[in-house]
Amino acid sequence: MTLRRPLIGITGRKDTSARLLHSVMVAVGETYTRAIQHVGGTPVVIPPTVMDADWDVLVAHLDGLLLSGGGDVDPVLYGEQSEPWMGQVDAERDLSELGLVRRWLASGRPLLAICRGHQVLNVALGGTLYQDIAAYLPNALDHSYAPARPMETLVHRADLVAGSRLATVLGGTTFEVNSAHHQAVKALGDGLVVVATAEDGVIEAIELQDYPFCIGVQWHPEAMVKAVETMWPLFEAFVNTAGG
Ligand code: MN
Repeated sequence: MTLRRPLIGITGRKDTSARLLHSVMVAVGETYTRAIQHVGGTPVVIPPTVMDADWDVLVAHLDGLLLSGGGDVDPVLYGEQSEPWMGQVDAERDLSELGLVRRWLASGRPLLAICRGHQVLNVALGGTLYQDIAAYLPNALDHSYAPARPMETLVHRADLVAGSRLATVLGGTTFEVNSAHHQAVKALGDGLVVVATAEDGVIEAIELQDYPFCIGVQWHPEAMVKAVETMWPLFEAFVNTAGG
């Protein structure tokens, strides 16, 4: 018997902060790739420029898909005008990821969506987003990214729905999580259910019903695992399902 190391695609973003040789860089946080390797997967970075025929090749070859974090999704893609509190958008990345997700979900193979990825999953299935939590939900907690705060810092509670795949995988229904987002899921996409909320009711995790493994989390488990052990089972279950 050969031990199989599942091949996990991780969506990348464009990094314009370090224009090596005058070229925009394709980047993904190292915490994602290390987390996948740690639980027995082999990570590959998917550039945010892949389109059409590339999607089919990726779906044919990857065992698992991880949608990583990043900037805001263009509201045009969920039928809204851009409000003043929107961050900068990357229309090419949006189209690349939305197309890939829609193809991927026909494969039945596992998908883990983190932060922006969780929002992309919702939009891919016809859902909408709050363009800014503070603007639309003034009584909500401060979920936003704080540059001075380490990413492993636990910011608020997530209450999980008992019996959900996420609660089953993590082995509990109450977890302290980090938070680095100013947007959140508003209307759910087709087939999605809420499986975790913060104390203020903000949606923190979703799952696709009647699908083997498709989980979106608004927090950053890959940035928590070094400091706290609670989120390792999510990566283990994802990669084990991909290899199964
Ligand atoms: Mn949050």
